[in-house]
Amino acid sequence: MSLDFSMETSEPIISPTFAPQDAGEIGLRPKLLADYTGQEKAKGNLAVYIEAARRRGEPLDHTLLYGPPGLGKTTLAGVIANEMGVNIRVTSGPAIEKPGDLAALLTNLNPGDILFIDEIHRLNRVVEEILYPAMEDFAIDIIVGKGPSANSIRLDLPKFTLIGATTRAGQLSAPLRDRFGVSLRLELYTPEELTKIVMRSAAILGIDIEPAGAREIASRSRGTPRIANRFLRRVRDFAQVMCEGTITSEAADLALRRLEVDALGLDNTDRRMLTAIIRSYGGGPVGLETLAATIGEEAVTLEDVYEPYLLQLGFLARTPRGRCATNLAYEHLHLPIPAAGATAEQLKMDML
Ligand code: ADP
Repeated sequence: MSLDFSMETSEPIISPTFAPQDAGEIGLRPKLLADYTGQEKAKGNLAVYIEAARRRGEPLDHTLLYGPPGLGKTTLAGVIANEMGVNIRVTSGPAIEKPGDLAALLTNLNPGDILFIDEIHRLNRVVEEILYPAMEDFAIDIIVGKGPSANSIRLDLPKFTLIGATTRAGQLSAPLRDRFGVSLRLELYTPEELTKIVMRSAAILGIDIEPAGAREIASRSRGTPRIANRFLRRVRDFAQVMCEGTITSEAADLALRRLEVDALGLDNTDRRMLTAIIRSYGGGPVGLETLAATIGEEAVTLEDVYEPYLLQLGFLARTPRGRCATNLAYEHLHLPIPAAGATAEQLKMDML
């Protein structure tokens, strides 16, 4: 029997950003801190802040969540709202085009509500400036009228909590960053944590899975729950057709190999990226833009989608002069590790 596992979208299967095929993940989102696996440090701090705010009967401090996509920033914002027993309004930086859009959102909040702004680094400047007094003084200044008769009116807002999420904390302007009382960094998950997440998702979806099957999916999911949940659904299809419905480690391995995801979760682009650093630049350092041009990818894609996991695996090192492949990368690709001082030319000769 032949199965077509080719991609139906142009997004790589290992992309951590939300794709149409992930629509089913919404039902998999944990609702309470106790169901939110991993991120122990962020969760521990949050539990204290939430409890303290609840005891004071005040809203939580404005909170910034940052880290690579697919790690659970939106999910955590929902968890915070549930734990605080308040409503959450969800929007994103690019969706708020004009100051009026933000003013409408803010004036419709109830006391204690949460406004969640995803991709907050993409807010435009004019809109961002409205946010400063809103965050600091719970008020906004709106201009009424035009020309010489224009008047500025101050509108009081209910006390609310802003939760901002970003993949690029470095791109946030200093005045905005400074207005967040709490700043939490989300980390890539360990395979053990992802195994738990896969087992939980399988139980919710009624998928028959062996712990070894969950472990196989988890260890290839690049530390990212979104990817783990996506793989789970794809592997399920495969197991249904090939292995009588149960996801065993063999079924997971077969399906993921069909999807061209290797034992550590690397795909073709990861391998092309590392091979280019090694073959074309003697192992590095090479600048991101140059590397991107060499393999025909966008620099931002390499930075957001591929690098975080390669850095976590220790396959890639970031230096002030550019990216370098480490010995672990050479070993994974079965390429000879160069002797210290070897030139790029010698390396190319060795590899021929
Ligand atoms: P982000 O906002 O960081 O891109 P999301 O919050 O949308 O990520 O998370 C992606 C998916 O991963 C969620 O729909 C949820 O199913 C799953 N997920 C994320 N974090 C966790 C977690 N800690 N425990 C269980 N599932 C999680």
